[in-house]
Amino acid sequence: MTLIKSISGIRGTIGGEVGENLTPIDIVKFTIAYTRFIASKNDAKRLRIVVGRDARISGEMVNDIIEGTLLGCGVDVINVGLCTTPGTEMAVITHKADGGIIITASHNPKQWNALKLLNEKGEFLNAAEGKQVLELAEQEDFLFPDVENIGKVISREDFNPTHIDQVLALNLVDVEKVKARKFKVVVDAVNSIGGVVIPALLRKLGCEVVELNCEPNGLFAHNPEPLPQNLTEISEVIVKEGADLGVVVDPDVDRLALVNEDGTMFGEEYTLVAVADYVLSRTKGNTCSNLSSSRALCDVTMAYGASYAASAVGEVNVVAKMKETGAVIGGEGNGGVIYPELHYGRDALVGVALFLTYLAEMGCKMTELRLRYPAYFASKNKIELTPAIDVDKVLATIKERYAHERVTDIDGVKIDTLPYWVHLRKSNTEPIIRIYTEAKSQEKADEVAEKFIAEIKEICGL
Ligand code: MG
Repeated sequence: MTLIKSISGIRGTIGGEVGENLTPIDIVKFTIAYTRFIASKNDAKRLRIVVGRDARISGEMVNDIIEGTLLGCGVDVINVGLCTTPGTEMAVITHKADGGIIITASHNPKQWNALKLLNEKGEFLNAAEGKQVLELAEQEDFLFPDVENIGKVISREDFNPTHIDQVLALNLVDVEKVKARKFKVVVDAVNSIGGVVIPALLRKLGCEVVELNCEPNGLFAHNPEPLPQNLTEISEVIVKEGADLGVVVDPDVDRLALVNEDGTMFGEEYTLVAVADYVLSRTKGNTCSNLSSSRALCDVTMAYGASYAASAVGEVNVVAKMKETGAVIGGEGNGGVIYPELHYGRDALVGVALFLTYLAEMGCKMTELRLRYPAYFASKNKIELTPAIDVDKVLATIKERYAHERVTDIDGVKIDTLPYWVHLRKSNTEPIIRIYTEAKSQEKADEVAEKFIAEIKEICGL
């Protein structure tokens, strides 16, 4: 039973008490606040908002409440129905809408849902804008339009085929080259919308598709976060089917993890690394990812004589940094590929199409391609503290102790040394510190994590 209102939207569990969960009343309040925010930027203009949702069980219920609320606020609605996060973003751009609402709780379990809010460019609202929406949600002086001025539903059309065509039309996607390889691909889409979209994309690329958990019924077949421990089934099927690779996406299809032909993981962190390698081989320009992403992207970028920049965690921060540094490819290490040539949003469809073009061009197996890249190993941990502990002070102490190393403090504290890096971040919602480390061996990454956990405990007197 949780409702998290943050600058990046509202997220909560379905059912229960108002204000404590994502109930119909909370959905209405937040939708009105978002409408007021978009209206404040568009004086008196009649607004058009795109609404899309992933396949989670509560999606239809949340969608109908949002749609009705928007109409009641005098806003016209373009409802794209079951759609991915990147697809809904592209629908905002394509339909020249004033904004968009994506109904998805991404990789969170089935009892969760959320509203992700987009601007007129199909990009997430930034922190200042998100704050304005939160403030507007506290006000109740809204005057609704009369019957002559309520909104109307402009269309209820599936946008996924258009999004697929837009991806395939990209210059760096070579459909014929991929078709010639006749890849056999196993897809695990945890029974969300990726189960429809990814097989459709792959078939247009001439692939033979083996579908695993591809019914968009919202009954997640396993923990929906595409991490190795959740992906045992696909590994077995790839080997049994003699497939070339496996493709795994999260419920809203902005994260992409790849699996090798022998059932081992290509590594979620290496999705972006390989795609960037391909894009940089064809396009001059820089790269960008967040501070918690693998160093491998920086290594690959430097090999092309380009420069790499790191941003604070969060897609909106990565996008801002990409624009600032002129990045031609970027994203998040957790399988999020952002290719500005199409749009500024993490897009697993773009990731699949670019990756397969590259794999076809290289003419090698997945395991062989993976060997091209420096091997780094990550350890992702968290330490639970008591609410009385001043987490900021703990991080400041660590920063001071390691002042002789390369320290970045734009988002928590990141310490970069030659043999390893460690990134310590506090959670905005719980009294915990996340401790991400990366080194050249798993032992070293785990050892560094343990060292910092012990140090934090010592500072806190635990
Ligand atoms: Mg997601």
